[in-house]
Amino acid sequence: MSGTDLLLPIPGDPITAVATPVGVGALAVVRISGNGAHQIADRVFQKANGEAQALASSPGFLAHFGRLYDGEEMIDEVIALVFRGPHSFTAEDMVEFTCHGGPVVVKHVLQLLLDNGCRLAEPGEFTRRAFLNGRIDLLQAEAIGEMIHARSESAWRTAVTQMKGDLSKKLNALRERLLHSCALLELELDFSEEEVEFQSREELTRQVDDLRREVGRLVDSYQHGRLLSEGVATVIAGRPNAGKSTLLNTLLGQERAIVSHMPGTTRDYIEECFIHDKTMFRLTDTAGLREAGEEIEHEGIRRSRMKMAEADLMLYLFDAGTERLDEEIADIRAVRAAHPEVRFLVVANKVDLLSSSDEVMQKVSSEAGAEVIGISARDGRGVEALLQRMSELVKDLDKLHEASVLVTSLRHYEALRNAADALENARELIDHHADTELIAFELRSALDYVGEITGKVVNEEILNTIFAKFCIGK
Ligand code: GDP
Repeated sequence: MSGTDLLLPIPGDPITAVATPVGVGALAVVRISGNGAHQIADRVFQKANGEAQALASSPGFLAHFGRLYDGEEMIDEVIALVFRGPHSFTAEDMVEFTCHGGPVVVKHVLQLLLDNGCRLAEPGEFTRRAFLNGRIDLLQAEAIGEMIHARSESAWRTAVTQMKGDLSKKLNALRERLLHSCALLELELDFSEEEVEFQSREELTRQVDDLRREVGRLVDSYQHGRLLSEGVATVIAGRPNAGKSTLLNTLLGQERAIVSHMPGTTRDYIEECFIHDKTMFRLTDTAGLREAGEEIEHEGIRRSRMKMAEADLMLYLFDAGTERLDEEIADIRAVRAAHPEVRFLVVANKVDLLSSSDEVMQKVSSEAGAEVIGISARDGRGVEALLQRMSELVKDLDKLHEASVLVTSLRHYEALRNAADALENARELIDHHADTELIAFELRSALDYVGEITGKVVNEEILNTIFAKFCIGK
């Protein structure tokens, strides 16, 4: 389906939700949006000066001090902030009540609004309305979600850029140009009897090549964009007992900034994030797997291999005091050879047990041809230097926040890939002097794929997936 205005009837029934986190706080915000929002608010709100219908007749962006009543019973003292559509987040009439921040207070306020004609909002419904009413495009709606969930400086920065609409502008410009080429081809079809060409095939080829290059650049930026939003995928590899879990704990413990479980990953491996020097590392410990018997171990190894292949950075850990140093060196060479594209650091662990680890490190470094850093995961020595090197090794990946427009979401990436494929097909068809109709078809698909990203072309399924990720009240 094309054009958001053709989509669904705009669901303007009054909805309400708490916009602030659950729990005890100084203040909480409960919002109402939709038809009759002001009238509903007036039913339960009494302005301090006793004025009736205060909110329905209030100008927008004005705050009123007063009380909420359930009949005779006072619920709380609040500030009511009035928005008049279309000058509100959802473009509808809205009221935001700032009440006291206790869970019981909030429950009463919500219940009061539900009793007076609101229904509870679905997750993301406020933002969905903002989109459906043309206040923001789909990319900006997603950026709001990404900003709320951002866990690193750079993820936040990318979300801000996207919210400002930089990617949208770029995509809209692309769409305009595609539309232009499509329109000329379709004109040709209308005049097919007369065999006219509204633009020369050379001109069309040039256009299509330009578009391919630009879409290609965006597709390529995804690799970088993903790093910003998900972190540098870092795998800790090595034999059992090398100290992988200990290192993981040390890294996470030392870098207190943010430690969180990645949502949505399987529990077969441990994945945690931390931030060092503004870079987010997503650490995978492939060790935790081996404790639950052979079958699982097997599956575990398969999964660790998979993780290694996906890694941006690998730390290969070995026990510096090992008596089987030659075997370790052979392993290191094998792992490196299997993943030549992955940035690689060899870590000699347990240096606290040796009087000197220099010899071991030199041997490994020269025979395995890799950079070696000595640490004690247990007492923390060398760990700061390790972190420093990790940051340096991925600096080129992370200096991207300077790049202006990046694709960070898998959904956008896939749509762009499809658009690139369609353009590629179009190019081939032109080369083979194919029918105008076929070329037009491919360009039209590219147009639709690009439109899917900003929401110019939407389907219900995409909308549901996007907005289901939001919290209620957003
Ligand atoms: P994993 O199997 O690679 O995850 O290894 P673990 O982290 O479970 O460590 C294996 C054993 O080595 C444990 O008893 C750790 O306490 C010990 N260990 C780990 N790192 C060090 C270290 O730097 N120095 C010393 N002395 N022992 C360590």
